[in-house]
Formats: sequence, C-alpha cells, structure tokens
Amino acid sequence: MLSTEVCIIGTGPAGAMAALRLAKDNIPFLIVDRDEFPREKICGDALSGKVPHIIRRLSPELLERFEEKCSPMNSFGIRFIAPGDHVFDVPFIEHYDAAIHPVPGYTVRRELLDAFMAEEVKNLAGDHLLTACAVNTVERVDDGFMLDTTAGKIRAKLLIDASGTTASFPVPYDKPGPSAKKTALAVRAYYRGVTDMHDQNFIELYFLEDILPGYFWIFPLPDGLVNVGIGIRKDIVLKKKINLSAVMDEIIRSHPLVAPRFRDAELMGKPAAGKLPLGNPKFRISGDRYMLAGDVAHLVDPLTGEGVGNALYSGFIAAEQAIECFDSHLFGDKFMNAYDKRIKRVLGKEMSISGNFQRMLKYPQMVKWIAKKADGNKHIPGLMSSMFTDLDHRKKLLNPFFIIRVLLNR
Ligand SMILES: Cc1cc2nc3c(=O)[nH]c(=O)nc-3n(C[C@H](O)[C@H](O)[C@H](O)COP(=O)(O)OP(=O)(O)OC[C@H]3O[C@@H](n4cnc5c(N)ncnc54)[C@H](O)[C@@H]3O)c2cc1C
Repeated sequence: MLSTEVCIIGTGPAGAMAALRLAKDNIPFLIVDRDEFPREKICGDALSGKVPHIIRRLSPELLERFEEKCSPMNSFGIRFIAPGDHVFDVPFIEHYDAAIHPVPGYTVRRELLDAFMAEEVKNLAGDHLLTACAVNTVERVDDGFMLDTTAGKIRAKLLIDASGTTASFPVPYDKPGPSAKKTALAVRAYYRGVTDMHDQNFIELYFLEDILPGYFWIFPLPDGLVNVGIGIRKDIVLKKKINLSAVMDEIIRSHPLVAPRFRDAELMGKPAAGKLPLGNPKFRISGDRYMLAGDVAHLVDPLTGEGVGNALYSGFIAAEQAIECFDSHLFGDKFMNAYDKRIKRVLGKEMSISGNFQRMLKYPQMVKWIAKKADGNKHIPGLMSSMFTDLDHRKKLLNPFFIIRVLLNR
C-alpha cells in the first residue's frame, strides 16, 4: 500500500496543475491517471487567455517551455456568425500590441498540452506520477481516503478529484448532478484543406438559428489542421432528438458561408463525441478532506464551452487550499469551504454572466433582430472586445436598455 498526504485523481489540466502547484511547496502527493501520455482528449483545442495567464502565474519558465515544446498557434479574436449570417469580427484585445499585451489566446492539440503537463509533473515528481493506473473505488477511512487502483491501494489524507467527465468509479462524496440543462453534448472532427481561414487565426463560432443556444465551430490549428465541431445543451438535444454528427455534416455540406470552404477538405480520422459539464455555482465542490477540480466540479463556461482555463485555475486553487490545510492541520468541511468560496470569487461571476447569455440565446427571433441591427454598427466590435477583458461590460450587454441604446446609436 502507498501512503501520501494528497492524492490527485486525473492528470488532465486540473490534476496536473494541482500537482505542479503542490510540488512548488514541497507537499508530498501522488497523482494517478488511467491513461498513458500522450493520449487523445476530445476537445475543441481552443485555449483562452486564462491559460497562459495561470501558467505564467505558476512559473514564467513553464509558459516558455510550453510555447517551445507545443508550438501553440496564437489566436487574436473570434469571428461570430449570428442568425441571418451576420458576421462580426471581434479581436480579443483591440489594437493588439505584442510589446505590451499578453498572448490573447491559443489553439493547440490537447494531446500535446496534456502530454506536456504530464511530462512536467514527471520531471518534478518522478515516481509520484502513476500512469496506466485506474481508480476502481474510493472509500473514506479515518484521517482520509483509501483508493483501490489497478496499481494497488493508496491511502491519502486529502483527495483532489480531477477525474473529468468519463470517470465511473464510486465515491463516498457528492458530485454535481448530471442535470441535462447543465450539460452540453458536443462532437468534434479534424479536417485538412479548409480554405479562407482568418489571417489572424480568429476562432469561428456559428450561432445558427436551428442550433441555438448551441453553436457550430471552426478552429484553426497549427500545420493546416482545423478542429470543427458542434455543441448543444443536452436537454435540447434530447427534446429535439438532434443527431449532432448529422447536423454538423449538413452544415459542412450546405451552409453558404461554410460549404464552399470545405469543397476540397479532407476529414482526418473519425468524429468523436464528448460531454461538457456547464458551470453550476449552486453545488458544493469540497467537503471533509476532499476537493473537486475541473470538469468533475462542473466548471465549463456555459456560453463558450471553455473548460481548460477553468480546470487549470481550479487545480491551482485546490493545491493552494491543500497547502493551507497542511499548514493549519485543518481538513474539515467548514475549512474546506474556503475552496468553494475562492472558486466562486474567481470564476463565479464570469460563469453566471455566461449562463445568462446562454439563456438569452434561446430566443432566436430576438437574437436575429439584434444581429441585424448590430450589423454595420461601428461601436459593436469594440464593445464586444471589451467583453473579453471587462466583466462589468459583459454584464452591461445583458441589459436590454443598454443594447437598444447602442443599436440605435449608429
Ligand atoms: C467536444 C468538446 C470540445 C471542447 N472544446 C473545448 C475548447 O475548445 N476549449 C476549452 O477550454 N475546453 C473545451 N472543452 C472542455 C475541456 O475539454 C474540459 O473542460 C477539460 O478537459 C477539463 O479538464 P479536466 O482536467 O477537468 O478533465 P480531463 O481533461 O477530462 O482529465 C481527466 C483525467 O482523469 C483521468 N481519469 C478518469 N477516470 C479515471 C480513473 N478511474 N482513474 C484514473 N484516472 C482517471 C482521465 O484519463 C483524464 O486524463 C471541450 C470539451 C468537449 C467534450
């Protein structure tokens, strides 16, 4: 049997970040993953500015190594396509200047990012990273948890569960429930030879009338690869009996802004499906001697589907909470609540605004009207850019009076 202070389940972005942060403070840990790295992870492969921000916060050298080893592509904005095929190009940062502004966002294959993070953990923690080690059960014992894994038993004083959405082992604590309204289903595929990609690597989000409040995406990747996909809330998929792959194929075959660009494109491998657990701030994500981080804590942005940045943030915060626990010898439910509070403070406002936007998108006629009015309005790109950097501006866009004033002030 292995014994440790902290056991982390999962070496995705949340678990790996937790391990790297713990290593910085020399807290003993074991981190396990059922997979070996590199391994495929179904994802859109788009990383917001939060990713470089939190990696740099852990260590500027780590960010340099990531850029050197993974060669991510810098992405400078989003092309929104609204119902009625109105196109809005919105830079992440207006008048971007590399000398003064941080990297706005990246695209990179998850296979590379996750393998890089696992490698960094291995370099720091050596044998404390156990890959090809699947957790079968987690049981509560005196002073912690006992894990039964394919590599034997592990006893830990504190547990960070960062096992994502595909884990199925029984646990003695509550996880956020799988409510269909708080889950999105998505399919992604890789293509080569898609033409007319944006010259500043903007990612493209198509909010098409039939799939609102979901969207179809086209994300450019390094080396001419393109990640294409569609994601829709699960309750809507079930209610309307939507076949996501079929809808994606139909858009690629016949949408006037999409089809001509795929005329000579080649599908690489098979499309794959996955789940996105959308932000659910009402649920407790910690308790007596445990914390949930990343997808298992339902931390995906309900509007954009961004989960990697939030997974990294939560792993970082979980590790800092663990450090506090060992400093103060406090592990109880009440003390652990500080983790929930910090997650809410750092990510809660953004997720709640995104949730409100997502609910607003359920009304296609209204979205269509706004898009029509906004098309050609010179204030819109700047206003939308400010949304990325200023949460209060984002909140303002939920105010109908503010929207009408902007739309009428051409
Ligand atoms: C189709 C799709 C597109 C997406 N697109 C984007 C995007 O473009 N940008 C973005 O930011 N986010 C995107 N996301 C969300 C993003 O992929 C997740 O939010 C992110 O991977 C969460 O990281 P995590 O560390 O919590 O979980 P994961 O990355 O899932 O890692 C969990 C780890 O736990 C391990 N594990 C599971 N069970 C066990 C077990 N029993 N024993 C041991 N180990 C176990 C797994 O092997 C895995 O390595 C997308 C998701 C989907 C499905």
